[in-house]
Amino acid sequence: MKITDLKCAVIGENPVVRIVTDEGIDGYGEIEAYKPYLKPFVLHLRPALLGEDPTNVERVVRKIRNRGGFKPWGSAVSAIEMALWDLAGKAAGLPVYKLLGGKVRDRVRVYNGAVRFPMSGYEPADYAANAAQMAASPEGFTIVKQPIAFHSQMKAEVPDFFYGEPESSAFHGTLNRGLLTERGLDHVVACVRAMKEALGDRVGLALDCGPGWTVPDAIRFAKAVEGLHLMWLEDLITGDYVPWVSADVYREVTRASTTPIHTGEQIYLRHNFKELIEGHAVHVIGPDPCDVGGIAELKWVAEYADLHGVLFAPHGTGNGLLGLAALVQVGATLPDNFIAFEYPVGRPDWWYDIVEGLPNPIVRDGFVDVWNRPGMGVNLVPEAARAYLSEEDRDFFD
Ligand SMILES: [Mg+2]
Repeated sequence: MKITDLKCAVIGENPVVRIVTDEGIDGYGEIEAYKPYLKPFVLHLRPALLGEDPTNVERVVRKIRNRGGFKPWGSAVSAIEMALWDLAGKAAGLPVYKLLGGKVRDRVRVYNGAVRFPMSGYEPADYAANAAQMAASPEGFTIVKQPIAFHSQMKAEVPDFFYGEPESSAFHGTLNRGLLTERGLDHVVACVRAMKEALGDRVGLALDCGPGWTVPDAIRFAKAVEGLHLMWLEDLITGDYVPWVSADVYREVTRASTTPIHTGEQIYLRHNFKELIEGHAVHVIGPDPCDVGGIAELKWVAEYADLHGVLFAPHGTGNGLLGLAALVQVGATLPDNFIAFEYPVGRPDWWYDIVEGLPNPIVRDGFVDVWNRPGMGVNLVPEAARAYLSEEDRDFFD
């Protein structure tokens, strides 16, 4: 089998990759939403793929791996890697999890994720109500994640939140960073307590916190919430769209309390997890298959983390329905340090009309049952999807 074409279309908010072969089967991969600008970057990799046998996934990815980088630049390589696995599975008539070594679990736990409700404000009661709403959603989530502090509007909405001026930008990153005021930190802790009271001990609470925290505040915060049995504090120091790791700084925070510390969604390739994992710099890492370099890369990082006693909770909120399928396939194969992956949804809603292969409901009691269809097991339906293609993507399925 040979690759005859690489195509990319922006469908809704997500760039979608399609690898075409001379045997009439094709493979799909999806890039996180909010990244339509990556389409030309995906397509510049086309010459490296043409003529290659897509079932030799690693042989093909080796040719393009050096063209990725920290988020968002690892997405193109990652989506192509996933489309290759999709093709390899379809060619073999096997689900991708079989090609990754087989499943170790029949259902994969998810955490929320992308099922979101608007915040009514930024006071403790608003956080409690919002957390309760997520916990009550029909998916039956056993873990929910809430943005707080620098990862939310709290930094701007709560007066004198930190010793800096809140600034806004179209891009996430390190724009807002600095020491919190005593009132600011107390406010964060009060909101966390209110959410825990609303959730009780049935639904775990994870917090997406930054980046932007300083070391003393991160330690103060992690210690202040020690009794609340939080799932993890995510991206306090770096993370999100920050193109560096700062493992030594994380280690200082991680050593200081029993509250689990988490990072890694923006990191590209195993090489850049080395210091975090070998240095035991965090308790939990959360690479995103759509940014880390693909699902085989994600699995390698998970295995290496497990060897070092580091837990694993992959990111995925913007990965769409094809990204969800990839998360289920690889999630089924991960070692026991796996906690849950972050649940993405199809956006806009019509995404559910243009794919086939998903169970209904997708999530039951906080888990997705692993399906057994060949490849990723979820496909675009060209007849249904054509209507949502832009003029320049008209030939996507041709
Ligand atoms: Mg995050």
